Amino acid sequence: MQLSSRITDLLGGGSDGWGVFLKARQMMGDGVPVTELTIGEHDIRTAAPILQEMHRAAMAGHTGYAAVPGTDSLRDAVAARVQERTGVPTTRDNVLITPGGQAALFAAHAAVCDSGDTALYIDPYYATYPGTIRGVGAVPQPVQARAEDAFQPRSETIAAVASGAKSLLINSPNNPTGVVYSRATLDGIAQLCIDYDLWLISDEVYDTQVWTGEHLSPRALPDMAQRTLVVGSMSKSHAMTGSRCGWIVGPAEAIEHLTNLATHTTYGVPGYIQDAALFALSKGPAFETEIAAPFERRRGLAQDILAGQNAVSLVPADGAMYLMLDIRSTGMTGEAFAHALLDQHHIAVMPGESFGAAAAGHIRVAMTIEDGEFSKALSTLCKYADGLTA
Ligand code: PMP
Repeated sequence: MQLSSRITDLLGGGSDGWGVFLKARQMMGDGVPVTELTIGEHDIRTAAPILQEMHRAAMAGHTGYAAVPGTDSLRDAVAARVQERTGVPTTRDNVLITPGGQAALFAAHAAVCDSGDTALYIDPYYATYPGTIRGVGAVPQPVQARAEDAFQPRSETIAAVASGAKSLLINSPNNPTGVVYSRATLDGIAQLCIDYDLWLISDEVYDTQVWTGEHLSPRALPDMAQRTLVVGSMSKSHAMTGSRCGWIVGPAEAIEHLTNLATHTTYGVPGYIQDAALFALSKGPAFETEIAAPFERRRGLAQDILAGQNAVSLVPADGAMYLMLDIRSTGMTGEAFAHALLDQHHIAVMPGESFGAAAAGHIRVAMTIEDGEFSKALSTLCKYADGLTA
């Protein structure tokens, strides 16, 4: 039987970029110890009090269908948090609770793109972006941010392909680069969205992981609230990846239609998960800082190790749980380097090419293992790269 091209072509026919990751898994399965720096997930689990609240809510009967757009209390809490962080007036009517940021990315594109519409996204990109866009029947169009610009996208590069496009997807703090977009970058993007009448889909799931300066949400820029859909999530900020709880913040009209879409897709998020998310949010910014602290600490360790290196250079790492390392001086592709590092030193990193052509000759290191092991792996990686250039 024939399946729809919408799902059979979801991955676009190319390599999905997970070769090194799968090889590492195979080696580990065969009993070979591998230092695993590929995965974007905390090395801690969801905090016990959050799980206790989840249990309490479930035992108290919050196990039936929850309100499709989210519980009033969680929508209110997300709205209050967004308003406090951005200054943009936000109420529950601006908030749809979704099963994680990924579902929010899909729904946001479904909300603004018709079949065949062009949806822009910045390369390097989080691995699901093009497939998410294809999944709603739109056409993904990457726009390269250049290593030479420290992966800050230039608005003139976006403008060159913006005519007739419907949306632009950005992600700051960025996975995979760890780059945080500057105010100038975001101002340029906002103006471009206004000039070309684009929706901006702003993936801010790493908004609590900013190491220098403050998180800037482009929804707060002049005339942007009516054309911006912000994607948020409890996954990274509260170490709740498995709970699948995120949101879209946007204009009330969009949220109303997105609620209809949710009725016909997810039918909402479990009430006991939402209660746990509400409890987690009520713990405030200090708890979020605590969850982010290991990444900030390891970023410091990495900066020290990489400071004196010639073969490997660190892309400015201002946020998120990743480092992007430029290994072009070795003459190898990111893919070849990552495979060789795994084969020879049993250290698994992601090739930059897995995240788009713009990250060629780079590797992504996830800062998701214990400090000592992390430092040791980085030192080995640097020595290996040095040996290649000697
Ligand atoms: N956006 C980015 C940039 C991500 O890195 C991730 C997860 N790795 C997501 C969205 C989705 O996260 P979740 O669905 O767990 O909220």
